Amino acid sequence: MADAAWLTISRLSKQFGQGEGAVSAIREISFSVPKGTFLSILGPSGCGKSTLFNLIAGLMQPTSGDVLMDGRSVINRPGQVGYMLQKDLLLPWRTIEDNITLGLTLQGISRKEARKMALPLMEKCGLDGFAHHKPQALSGGMRQRAALLRTLLTGQETLLLDEPFGALDAITRLQLQMLLTQIWQEMGKTILFVTHDVDEALLLSDEILLLSRRPGTVLRRFMVDLPRPRTPHMLAQKETAALKADMMDLLWKEVGQDGTA
Ligand code: ADP
Ligand code: MG
Repeated sequence: MADAAWLTISRLSKQFGQGEGAVSAIREISFSVPKGTFLSILGPSGCGKSTLFNLIAGLMQPTSGDVLMDGRSVINRPGQVGYMLQKDLLLPWRTIEDNITLGLTLQGISRKEARKMALPLMEKCGLDGFAHHKPQALSGGMRQRAALLRTLLTGQETLLLDEPFGALDAITRLQLQMLLTQIWQEMGKTILFVTHDVDEALLLSDEILLLSRRPGTVLRRFMVDLPRPRTPHMLAQKETAALKADMMDLLWKEVGQDGTA
């Protein structure tokens, strides 16, 4: 089953509003994702990436088109994916541990059992010593780690990560990228990852989907054939640099030389 499409996005369009003030966010987007793939989505700001995720998450109705997961439409069926946003959105009044296990306790799993499930991941991420701290006592990088673990522990097969590391400094981002890759490989999840950082996409992904400016359409799909584990050094290799240049060229053409997307 490894090559069968797990997720199929089919001619998906979304328009906000009607008449003169209508905004077409995405138009006729189609692609499919085999189970276990790490796919990054890259595109100009405002091209509809978050809208695409809201549609895949079943939180929003498309104007037309469909999203199939494991052969079934997710339209009007939220709760089929784990979803993580750039802002960590941890609950300030709950401890880190209670934030991380939130999805599990909401599913009716006892706190004790949830803690047992979370502990190995918390240890792996260096969060075990902070289990009883409140989020505001932690650095931005640690809060994002906690939000990532909470997303992983929802138990969903498919994870949507919307620019999760965008606000972090370069070193912390690299640490979290490596951690995410390691966890993804161990847990075998299907990950869709929005980023505006071409290097980040190259470092993490099996495939990269490049979107046009708004209304977002698929410009091109790139395969990233680098071996794993990946290292930052690979970004300097000739083939990778050429791939990056191709993507940057396409994006540059999309936004125009005046930079207006
Ligand atoms: P991206 O994540 O690629 O930056 P978004 O999906 O957030 O882009 O937005 C795409 C376009 O859709 C933008 O023009 C935005 O203003 C518009 N948009 C997004 N969500 C809504 C909404 N709920 N109502 C109206 N317009 C929206
Ligand atoms: Mg967005």
